[in-house]
Amino acid sequence: MDMESPAARARALTKTYGLAGAEVHALRGVDLDIRRGEFTAIMGPSGSGKSTLMHLLAGLDAPTTGEVWLGPLEIGRMPDAQLTLVRRRRVGFVFQSFNLVPTLDVRGNLLLPFELDGRRPDVKEQAFIDELVASLGLGDRLGHRPHELSGGQQQRVAIARALATRPEVVFADEPTGNLDSRTGRDVLTLLRDAVDRHGQTIVMVTHDPVAASHADRVVVLGDGRVVADRPRSTAEEISSFMLSLEVAP
Ligand code: ADP
Ligand code: MG
Repeated sequence: MDMESPAARARALTKTYGLAGAEVHALRGVDLDIRRGEFTAIMGPSGSGKSTLMHLLAGLDAPTTGEVWLGPLEIGRMPDAQLTLVRRRRVGFVFQSFNLVPTLDVRGNLLLPFELDGRRPDVKEQAFIDELVASLGLGDRLGHRPHELSGGQQQRVAIARALATRPEVVFADEPTGNLDSRTGRDVLTLLRDAVDRHGQTIVMVTHDPVAASHADRVVVLGDGRVVADRPRSTAEEISSFMLSLEVAP
């Protein structure tokens, strides 16, 4: 792993959805370095392009123009087969809508990233999965399918699945959005530990200043652009700063 290069990078990144005449400019030129071993929070009003940026940085969607880098690799125009491998080996993603496999139980969903990579967890990885399951309070749900779980439980499975292989970079799109404050705090502690104890890089979208106060850096999007980039701050500082921005929701 190249420790010098940023974990992820966007250069003059744009993303336009829709057909000519009815375009939606989700990203209008984003330049951003996600520093390795940092916990970055992405904030901004609904529709400002947060999810789009995360999908592009993770190689889940292709840019309209500009470049996207994951470590030393330009992934914006990488052929699908190669990109799939890069994603599997380097990236974890917590989707806003969870994206759990409905036909698999919790255990099956957690093992999916390994299955897709054609292997099983080794002893250390299994111990880490057990630790995740315990700290997310999923121990008595391993045999349940997603439809048998609450929204908060599904969200926790999605988080455990993204962390299970200890990927270099974890993207989490509003990972505490469906959680009560105590469970939300447990998730933030897990993400913080992933950075502090395991040297992973975390990028998290959130609307919650308390959640963002766990991050090392807060990047704010407004109408498809980066409108602010701040070092670690308290929840109070983040709230008043967000209110002071014209993009405040
Ligand atoms: P956020 O996550 O900040 O709420 P999104 O990245 O989801 O914002 O969306 C940014 C803009 O792009 C919004 O106007 C949204 O409606 C639009 N958009 C997002 N995904 C699509 C899509 N697949 N097709 C068309 N428009 C989209
Ligand atoms: Mg979103």
